[in-house]
Amino acid sequence: MKLAIVLAFVAFASAQNPCQNIRTRTQWGSRSTSLTWMATRPPSGFVIHHTAGARCTTQAACDAMMRNLQNFHMDTNGWADIGYNFCIGDPGQVYEGRGYGRHGAHSPGFSARSLGHCFIGDHTNVLPTAAALSNTQAFITCSRNNGELTSGHWVSTHRNDQQTVTACPGQALFNVVSTWDRFHPVP
Ligand SMILES: [Zn+2]
Repeated sequence: MKLAIVLAFVAFASAQNPCQNIRTRTQWGSRSTSLTWMATRPPSGFVIHHTAGARCTTQAACDAMMRNLQNFHMDTNGWADIGYNFCIGDPGQVYEGRGYGRHGAHSPGFSARSLGHCFIGDHTNVLPTAAALSNTQAFITCSRNNGELTSGHWVSTHRNDQQTVTACPGQALFNVVSTWDRFHPVP
């Protein structure tokens, strides 16, 4: 019974166009901030991160996680907003962070020219859910099709940023992302 429910959910999540099902800042209860547009739009990159913290398994839990991340980035780090352009948790719904076209604070060498996309959880040893992985790949495709990424865009990860020393997005997740279409280790 449990397996059937999980499989049905994965099938349902995969069938959606993730660009048409983004959980907006208003929906997850974002603080209001002043966001900065990228100097050049659309960006040419899509950069994968993980939070290296707890995962979230329900929409309510992921909403709360987004609020926590935003509070941490603004109140502790002193940033203008949550650092990432988008996030995704176990259910596989894409969350709007800073959103499209906004200059993020996720990767010093990449932020000006990429969308930063963060998997909520610690993916050093454990992969994200199948729904989160497949919806992220579909999200890259539909973002490109919608003109929010350049047609020749690249995909990379935080650890590939030459200006940063980090294990992000975790070895297990890195091993998967590095096999994805358009992956470039040093874009
Ligand atoms: Zn990162």
